[in-house]
Amino acid sequence: MQLRFFLLTLVTLISSGAALRAANTGSAFYGDPPDAHHPWAVHDHNRPQPPLVTPGTFSTRDEPGKPPSDAIVLFDGTDLSQWEADQGEGVATKWIVKKGAMECVPGSGFIKTKATIGDCQLHVEWAAPTKIEGESQGRGNSGVFLIGQVEIQVLDNYNNPTYADGFAASVYGVNPPLANALRPPGEFQTYDIVFRRPIYRAGQCVDPGYVTVFLNGVLVQDHTPLEGATGHMHRSKAGPLGEAGPLRLQDHGNPVRYRNIWYRPLPPRACEGGTDGALSEQATAAKRKEIAATLRHDALKLRETQEPANPLPEMLRLMESLVYEPNDEALGRVRDLEEAYSQQVRQLSADQLAAQKDQIKHLRNVYRYMARFNLLAWDSKLYTQLNQVIQEHNWDKK
Ligand code: MG
Repeated sequence: MQLRFFLLTLVTLISSGAALRAANTGSAFYGDPPDAHHPWAVHDHNRPQPPLVTPGTFSTRDEPGKPPSDAIVLFDGTDLSQWEADQGEGVATKWIVKKGAMECVPGSGFIKTKATIGDCQLHVEWAAPTKIEGESQGRGNSGVFLIGQVEIQVLDNYNNPTYADGFAASVYGVNPPLANALRPPGEFQTYDIVFRRPIYRAGQCVDPGYVTVFLNGVLVQDHTPLEGATGHMHRSKAGPLGEAGPLRLQDHGNPVRYRNIWYRPLPPRACEGGTDGALSEQATAAKRKEIAATLRHDALKLRETQEPANPLPEMLRLMESLVYEPNDEALGRVRDLEEAYSQQVRQLSADQLAAQKDQIKHLRNVYRYMARFNLLAWDSKLYTQLNQVIQEHNWDKK
């Protein structure tokens, strides 16, 4: 049994290693090419690299963790300089900072950020009072109001039942959390929230918006569709909520504490000009045009700097541009360069030819790729010539 597991692991390691090597060849002619809704090929090396972010650290019971390097910190335990009272702009809040946490002073009203925030990843930690007072909605109640209007409930539900759609981490009045994963009162609880606002265009809903919430690392809202601003007793109505709004924390009469509050703005969705996911045909065509133009520009630079004896780099770059967008001028230049390269190959001695084996095989494979996806015709003379060379030397078999 153990031997079988070992062999299975070995096979998996070897095959994943092979896949990795293939993915790292750096060839532009590899995965399925762009299509009407995807401007990049599969495994496309022209697709931008993800930005570097240094991860933060997790919080412990006594110490808040560090935010990731690109986070915008709203409260780090020292002061309320980024916050104000909810009664208008520039009104100082009466909430207080004590032992690295901000604390709601009952009766003082909501607190809100001076900044307005739209789509974001939000991290908030809160603690209900250690001294247990009240029950149901009366125990350790506060709330995190996304875009100022959608309440993710804050409530001490540790041994404290209440109506399900009013539990801690519920979208208040709309959707209960998937689990009650609370720690005892007095301990800090973490909310990690992904918020996407609704998008409306000309009165039509393009995207309802969503909220995902992890409570102490446990998934409790799973991409829950938004139903507009939340409220008490009344059914929420779906509708636009604006581009951005302040983050508001509720005063519900309990001295709930907060610490370690930060967020990371999220990139636009495909429906609003973002480039992740399947795009509209129009957006895809525009992006493909842009990539092709960059590659043609690269090819022009290579033409200016490369040795005349080596037409291949420019030719490959132009062929790569044709993967994204047909272009007669680029195609014409490819034909000229094919001719130049073809003559060169013909003049190579046997030793020189052997030294070019990998390059020749690569170019032949590029032709196969281009032809397979109808990006170039199969009838290229150079393709035929390369195939002959490869067959004569039996390079495919060795
Ligand atoms: Mg509340």
